[in-house]
Amino acid sequence: MVAGCMIGFDFEEDRIKQEIAKRNAKRILLQLPEGLKPEGPRLAEMVAKTGALPIISADPCYGACDIAVNEAEILGADLIVHFGHAPFASQGKVPAIYVEAKATVKVDLAVLQALPLLSNYKRIGITSSIQHLQALSQAKEILEKAGKTVLIGDRGQLIHAGQVIGCNYSNATSIADEVEAFVFVGGGMFHALGIALSTSKPTVVADPYDNRAFSINEQTQKMLKQRWAVIEEAQQANVFGVLVGLKMGQKHFDKALKVKETAENHGKSAYLLASKEITPDTIMEFPSVDAYVNTACPRISLEAPQKFSKPVLTVNEFMVAVGEGSWENLLKKGLFEN
Ligand code: SF4
Repeated sequence: MVAGCMIGFDFEEDRIKQEIAKRNAKRILLQLPEGLKPEGPRLAEMVAKTGALPIISADPCYGACDIAVNEAEILGADLIVHFGHAPFASQGKVPAIYVEAKATVKVDLAVLQALPLLSNYKRIGITSSIQHLQALSQAKEILEKAGKTVLIGDRGQLIHAGQVIGCNYSNATSIADEVEAFVFVGGGMFHALGIALSTSKPTVVADPYDNRAFSINEQTQKMLKQRWAVIEEAQQANVFGVLVGLKMGQKHFDKALKVKETAENHGKSAYLLASKEITPDTIMEFPSVDAYVNTACPRISLEAPQKFSKPVLTVNEFMVAVGEGSWENLLKKGLFEN
């Protein structure tokens, strides 16, 4: 635990002060994901003591894809301090430093709890989000002591081996053929579902916050059923809206153009729709559109399809909907682009 900060996260305050001094930065934009935002005022006070002017971004921030470069430019900031993620998108005009906010909670009990759920598997892949990566070596040791062969993937697309982010499970897919199951070390189901949907392997969460472990196989099957229903509905669509993300790491314009061209080749109409935030309200404004293809953040529609009044497909799902790929291949390839 770091003295004077939210319990269980390291905000690297000495490094932040050193970076501000080294760069002689005068106006600092602090960007925090939702769970860490309560620390904003305290961190702003720490920055103010260096003589720089802190500004806290109050906008939602869900990933390093969303680095607030445009906002920093508008505010005349000369440094962004981005918390909770590792670098992902290419840098913009305003320099940024990343504070990963590593969790200091112990993972050993949660990993031990995972062992009974892995009794049928010998070869295990382990992954984590940025907050717990430092604990992967300990998790590996515990599983190996229990007789497992443990692999940590590194396809080189992310900063760290074993790291996963919501739209990139390449460190899991890179070893999927060599393991029988995955363990995700960290809280919640979000990343474990991403692993299962990208690899089709049984996946267990070792949650160090509750010191418990659980399988997400049932939730995976439920989500696959939902996704198939969404694809089937989109097969009837004549007009597609191709969603183009306006966040720095969510803009995949070439992919959007390819989707538009593919739709038109299949006799459909397709419109490019650019948006910073893709929400159920955004898409309600276009009643003539029958279905959407989301080239921005692939997790938006997957997490809560019932909130959207029209089908919102990932690019891979769209290819199945227009007959350019099969559901079986989609399961092998994963629902996301990696
Ligand atoms: S695109 Fe979505 S899943 Fe990927 S990092 Fe950004 S918010 Fe997370």
